[in-house]
Amino acid sequence: MSLHSFPALLLERANADGAAPDAHIRELHVDELPEHDTLVRIRYSGINYKDALAVTGRGPIVRSYPMVPGIDFSGVVVETSHPSLHAGDDVILTGWGVGERYWGGYSGYQRVKGDWLVPIPASLGHRDAMVLGTAGLTSMLCVMAIQDAGVRSGRVLVTGASGGVGSIAIALLADRGYEVVCLSRDADANRADLQALGASEVIGGPEWGQAPPPLASQRWDAVVDVVGGAVLARALAHTQYGGAAAVCGLAGSAELHTSVMPFILRGVRMLGVDSVMCPKERRVVAWSELAATFPFAKYQSLVRTIGLEQVPERCRLLADGASRGRVVVQIAGEGEAS
Ligand code: NDP
Repeated sequence: MSLHSFPALLLERANADGAAPDAHIRELHVDELPEHDTLVRIRYSGINYKDALAVTGRGPIVRSYPMVPGIDFSGVVVETSHPSLHAGDDVILTGWGVGERYWGGYSGYQRVKGDWLVPIPASLGHRDAMVLGTAGLTSMLCVMAIQDAGVRSGRVLVTGASGGVGSIAIALLADRGYEVVCLSRDADANRADLQALGASEVIGGPEWGQAPPPLASQRWDAVVDVVGGAVLARALAHTQYGGAAAVCGLAGSAELHTSVMPFILRGVRMLGVDSVMCPKERRVVAWSELAATFPFAKYQSLVRTIGLEQVPERCRLLADGASRGRVVVQIAGEGEAS
């Protein structure tokens, strides 16, 4: 692969209504990339829920076609006119509409705004940066939100526990001394893996799909929720007086039918967490916390590394709710010169 020509996964709009976009690998030329101030040689990208929606066409994520999906990547700056960047810098990008509005990470090179890039902390390699990726940043922001709300110890419920955000949140919370209760649709199948990450209890059951009572027994001090809908409503009904729920996802539903009772009678706070528009200063803090504390050794069994050609199939699995842990996409090897 030369600087001028490289493979990328491209999505072309499907002709028939509701059909998946046509996804194919094409050789792109650096001159075909968008006109932003910084050219990055991409090393790794990740597969996130939004990528699954984009590639399968199951959610209105992509704003214009053709699109190079991939909402996050790690790589090396090749050329830049941005005042705080230099050729050779190791960088991570998550969010800012990349892979949705702007071309993203499933590509040998990409041109982006330098303002969107965060330096990779010195102790983190390119692959580890993408093992965490958007899911890791979001998990860390949820933990920071709970801590900022004053919940610094006690029990925390993590929903969607076997997925990317949920599984990383378990490891981060356990590492900080919280007692972690995990909710998973298949608690029995996932129990051993989630306990290995630090979960003290793995729960599930049909009641989690049903509307909850306005208030129920107080079972946890905080919640990290990626599922939404009836799951979040029930999680709130069980939250202790003075507790907090960091809410970041809608893997189950974007709807929320609850009552005001948890908020009035128990003073529960609901904290929205969004990694896409999160200010750069907070991102840098979150990445340095992740680099310093994430227990990679415990997490390796939940990581799968794939090539660009396997992306469409993995996206279908994730969109079907059948993916566990994190999938990283190797675009160029660690040892390859930039
Ligand atoms: P994953 O698909 O990796 O994980 C989601 C998990 O939720 C699944 O593993 C499953 O866990 C559970 N789940 C999936 N489908 C359903 C369903 N229909 N009903 C109930 N539970 C379900 O996705 P991510 O972890 O990458 O993302 C999770 C959510 O967080 C998504 O909605 C995503 O858009 C959002 N997100 C938000 C961000 C932000 O900045 N706010 C950033 C990143 C993600 P189990 O089987 O164990 O129950």
